[in-house]
Amino acid sequence: MPRRIAVMPEELSSRIAAGEVIERPASIVKELLENSLDAGATDITVELEDGGKTLIKIVDNGAGIHKDDVSLAFERHATSKIYTFEDITDLDSFGFRGEAIASIAAISKVEMLTRKEDSLSGTRVHVQGGVIKEVVDAGCPVGTSVTVNDIFYSTPVRMKFLKKDATEQAYCIEAVTRIALSNPGTRIKVIARGKTVFDVPRTENIFDRVSLVLGKNFRQNSMRIEGKKESARVEGFISTPDLTRSNTKGIFYYVNRRFVRDNLLNHALMNSYRWLIEPRKYPSAVLFFDLPPEDVDANVHPTKMEIRFRNSRDIYDLVIDSVAGTLAMQGLSRGKTPGQNELSDIYRKRTEEALKRYTISADPKRYLFEKTGQANENRTLFTAPGIFEGEYATSKEEISFSSLHYLGQTMGTYLIFSDNDGGIILMDQHAAHERVLFEKLRERSSKDDERQKLLIQEIISVSPGHFGLLIDNIELLADVGIEIEPYGENTVRLKSIPSTLSDVNVEVLIQDIIEEIIKTGKTLKLDEIREKIYTLFACKGAIKAHHVLSSGEVTSLCEALDSVPFATHCPHGRPLYVRLDKAVLERMFKRR
Ligand code: ADP
Ligand code: MG
Repeated sequence: MPRRIAVMPEELSSRIAAGEVIERPASIVKELLENSLDAGATDITVELEDGGKTLIKIVDNGAGIHKDDVSLAFERHATSKIYTFEDITDLDSFGFRGEAIASIAAISKVEMLTRKEDSLSGTRVHVQGGVIKEVVDAGCPVGTSVTVNDIFYSTPVRMKFLKKDATEQAYCIEAVTRIALSNPGTRIKVIARGKTVFDVPRTENIFDRVSLVLGKNFRQNSMRIEGKKESARVEGFISTPDLTRSNTKGIFYYVNRRFVRDNLLNHALMNSYRWLIEPRKYPSAVLFFDLPPEDVDANVHPTKMEIRFRNSRDIYDLVIDSVAGTLAMQGLSRGKTPGQNELSDIYRKRTEEALKRYTISADPKRYLFEKTGQANENRTLFTAPGIFEGEYATSKEEISFSSLHYLGQTMGTYLIFSDNDGGIILMDQHAAHERVLFEKLRERSSKDDERQKLLIQEIISVSPGHFGLLIDNIELLADVGIEIEPYGENTVRLKSIPSTLSDVNVEVLIQDIIEEIIKTGKTLKLDEIREKIYTLFACKGAIKAHHVLSSGEVTSLCEALDSVPFATHCPHGRPLYVRLDKAVLERMFKRR
């Protein structure tokens, strides 16, 4: 029998609504932290048990809540932050919908203890399943503490969707991290299972805060950026291309101090690093955008932290100009701490000028920048193939590597040369060798004499799933110089490998090839998979950074480079070398 329509009882509707806001312990941590910050807290402690599933306790030293208002805070749409309709459109109130506390209380057991500075005593409220059980006077310090117990205790189905304690705890810390990055004036500490797992002191400015939160490695491998376009401004930190991660967890965007996720920003950021980092690797970045509230629509989805920019093209350009511009400068100031280096500031200004003459190319496969201004008016400072590809292409420089004068090596990684025109060339030895190996493999891998027949034929065992894949691809592997044959259950015998790979751990290599095939096999043509495998081989076989080369080795590397086409980038797309013009050197030393 069809049911009649009925308005849901309040308790039910609030539980459903709570589901939108409260997905997991981390959502509670975020909402409570935001409340504490809104209350002006300068010190906040978060306690977690079982990843926040059984206990989340947040203690702040903020303004507290007036006795008469405490129970109001637990009502839906009760807020002290929005009084008028205009307040809603003000970006400062984004995310404030006056329902966090009510939603949290609807799905857990909450105790709040709060006192305002001018009150003699505080108030204790106990709420369970959305129902206020008790409101009493109680002694407590100024500020508010909220204890949330047994999340989803009344909806076991929702509880089942939670992940392992460790994972939920990691999500909670992620939420804390996002907030800590943008609120330098508040000390934030997290205690999990009795141990302090996160503790950042108050800092004077946002930059000190970012380096404290993201740690030493980021501090030492990052650069400050800033930029302005129309009424939008950006400032922050980006990692150097050496510091990459295999996920986007090191990327944080804030719009008017609120954490947001945004695909447009992702796209612009990744585009800025194109050619500089390997595919499927990601930089770290903390970018703070400042723009007039009317230029942002923050209500797209209040809990998913999505927003919409009114002038998205400007924002896109702003990221490209400031991030790519700073990265381009890094070619010159590598190894130095930017910001502390006056020279690099001068260079940055000049690069910004240079960048003004470039625009993003319509063909994303080819150039990051394309020349738009008049040729030769103000030559670029340096040519890094791929970064200033437009300029590089017009200057038609064909470097003859073997005619360069080798001056030495620095950081065990970069080879330094001078050329006959008074220029300086810095070469990444690993990238250069990779390109050479790649070309050689491509050219000759199927020839027998380039293969190494193994004296002791290695037996490699793989997982059942991988075994099938290996056997399916026997011909492809033979084609790239790796001969294998089945050898019992889930094992193969390796008969030969390309000679360039003789020093490589073959078991790891096979594993990587399988992964490459899994990753790309369905989408790529045979030729393309082959290229991928050569790229992998080249990377494995190439001389690594921190390896000191003899001058003989440098000479043969240069000769090899002369013999291969496309000696400007490694197979991953990173530039092999950067060239500093004589004119640039002269300008640096004010001789011009
Ligand atoms: P909102 O933050 O959107 O106003 P909440 O449900 O999160 O809604 O909180 C309701 C109200 O309770 C807030 O407007 C604020 O007045 C009060 N409140 C909540 N947490 C705190 C806190 N830690 N310190 C002071 N006041 C608080
Ligand atoms: Mg709130």
